[in-house]
Amino acid sequence: MQAWGRCRVRRSGFRRLRVEWLLAFWADSASDTVDSNNKHLENVLARIEVMQAQCNTCGGMRKQRILKKVSKSWDDERYSVWGKNEYSLLECAGCEDISLLDQSWFSENTDSDGNPVLNETYYPPSIYRRQPTWFGMLDKQWHITKLLQEVYNALQNSAPALAAMGLRAIIEAIMIDKVKDGGTFSDNLKKFRSGGYISDIQHRALLAALELGHASIHRGHIPDDFELDTALDITENLVHLLYVLEHRAQISIRGLPKRNP
Ligand SMILES: [Zn+2]
Repeated sequence: MQAWGRCRVRRSGFRRLRVEWLLAFWADSASDTVDSNNKHLENVLARIEVMQAQCNTCGGMRKQRILKKVSKSWDDERYSVWGKNEYSLLECAGCEDISLLDQSWFSENTDSDGNPVLNETYYPPSIYRRQPTWFGMLDKQWHITKLLQEVYNALQNSAPALAAMGLRAIIEAIMIDKVKDGGTFSDNLKKFRSGGYISDIQHRALLAALELGHASIHRGHIPDDFELDTALDITENLVHLLYVLEHRAQISIRGLPKRNP
């Protein structure tokens, strides 16, 4: 969780939140009481017609028009607690895609200074990062395409350890596809390297991605964004190099004029 001013925003998925109007809330807020701060946050949200929000199509925070806003409040008198959900139908000012943002807060959910903690959830869920353009060229029924899609789904739904395990499974599947199953993981990796499918530099990078998956499976490690980004880069590059680029290179060279003997 990361704080922006007096109001905190809980991370939803792997988005890096930059909610500029929360800074305005911080600058504008004069009261030190929890109730007043909650009320003030509610008023600020109600006034907003344009906001910075995640756009999956553009791939990041973009200016979005608020087409419709609906608020739902609740309270429980027995325990003197209350909460609210504010749903905003958003239209990206760039690509005009539509999404729904649910901003919610709960009277008892405050930071150490007594300021409200705002939770944000997007529908559809915000994308961790855009899929590579060549991903759409892969056969949808191919098991590696399915595994990659599951990794993207895991990333989109805040499951970093599952994503790391999936990336390791993809690398293993690629090795077996290329060099056949040699029995052990290290044997497959050796054959993969000696078979010329990867360079020494790629071999070192591959070991890092494999180690991340191993740590997630066997040592309870939850990868952070940097580790996952790196492992995903390595895995996507491998798929692109061995299954997309090689195929495209063969096709493109067919149309070239032949050299004179
Ligand atoms: Zn957009």
